Amino acid sequence: MSNVFVLDTNRQPLMPCTPARARTLLRHHKAAVFRRVPFTIVLTHPVLNPQTQPMRLKIDPGSRTTGIAIVDDATGMVPFAAELSHRGEQVKAALDRRRQVRRGRRFRHTRYRQVRFLNRGRRESWLPPSLESRLANILTWVSRLRKLCPIAAISLELVKFDTQALQNPEISGVEYQQGILAGYELREYLLAKWDRMCAYCKAKQVPLQIEHIVPLARGGSNRVSNLTLACESCNRAKGVQTAREFGYPALQEQAKRPLRDATAANTMRWALFTRLKTSILPIEVGTGGRTKYNRCRQNLPKTHWLDAACVGASTPVKLWVEGVCPLLIQATGHGHRRQCDTDKYGFPIRHRTRHKRFFGFQTGDIVRARVPSGRKTSGVHIGRVLVRASGKFDLCKAGGRVPGVHARYCSVLQHGSGYSYELG
Ligand SMILES: [Zn+2]
Repeated sequence: MSNVFVLDTNRQPLMPCTPARARTLLRHHKAAVFRRVPFTIVLTHPVLNPQTQPMRLKIDPGSRTTGIAIVDDATGMVPFAAELSHRGEQVKAALDRRRQVRRGRRFRHTRYRQVRFLNRGRRESWLPPSLESRLANILTWVSRLRKLCPIAAISLELVKFDTQALQNPEISGVEYQQGILAGYELREYLLAKWDRMCAYCKAKQVPLQIEHIVPLARGGSNRVSNLTLACESCNRAKGVQTAREFGYPALQEQAKRPLRDATAANTMRWALFTRLKTSILPIEVGTGGRTKYNRCRQNLPKTHWLDAACVGASTPVKLWVEGVCPLLIQATGHGHRRQCDTDKYGFPIRHRTRHKRFFGFQTGDIVRARVPSGRKTSGVHIGRVLVRASGKFDLCKAGGRVPGVHARYCSVLQHGSGYSYELG
């Protein structure tokens, strides 16, 4: 079970506590529930000289899902973990649809309108809306978690590979040339570059060995541009021949080109880095190779939140992750401002009301419904509400959707904030 966040009477974050301790505090009225998700309590009496240890917020940004973990560097405890699912694709689909509707409208035969062009500008830091949405999700959660937990530093996985260190082994530290990390970083890079298959016979799903295109014995170097991956039989068959002599002259040219994805750095990660840099917290960056090395060293499975916990050089030698239950956060957005829906030809077919709030509820609120017995939906339900003007709401909860719950049975537990939650 993940820990519970604790705030003092001034709403300043204290050290997270165990669920059992939180229950005791709540039972004795020494604390009250501050927030349902992520579960946070607020103390009712002031604490003299509260002791807090600096925690580290670790982020592994992804295009669909971002892993988040809070790690105590001193003890290796992971009091909180989450996986944040983005809605980048939905944003793109919605904008594509809007663009089509508008284009259709402009192509209709209407009165003459003067052509307008080159009348749009974009600011320097502009990002596509789908990327901006992902970025906003992450920044929102960074600022939310900072209010709930004494976070003193941030670790961010910035790049998949440290390409500079790979390309110029001479300039980097001893760790890269001789350490175990070199093997990880290098292997992952080569796997990505050579499509996870043998460069000679194109065999997939076989053990691959790092192979010198021009063998060391023939004056080849250890540089990445001279390395490829080969299955064991190809490696043995090639022996001390160069790739050209072995019958693969194109390979030598291909090897000289660096991996495009790795060199052209991931736009979102860099944008996130530049925006996080402006926060007062010190920020540490790590590479994907380092993350994998940290994770494999501790025999941890590959999940987004465990990857996040393993980001960066500051990762403790032993992470205590048993029983940590990641919070699955799904970005849902705040609805849309579209006032009229259209059919597939772009004609308006229905209009929405100007209101979003009915009977004091809004779509996305987490509510508790106590439906009395004798009705189809009788019982107690807790879930995310979907409001209607008629007052008959739908409730989305873990077991499925409960339709037609009337507003009079509902009470708000937590107002909607653009996210829905599940326990992993
Ligand atoms: Zn092969």
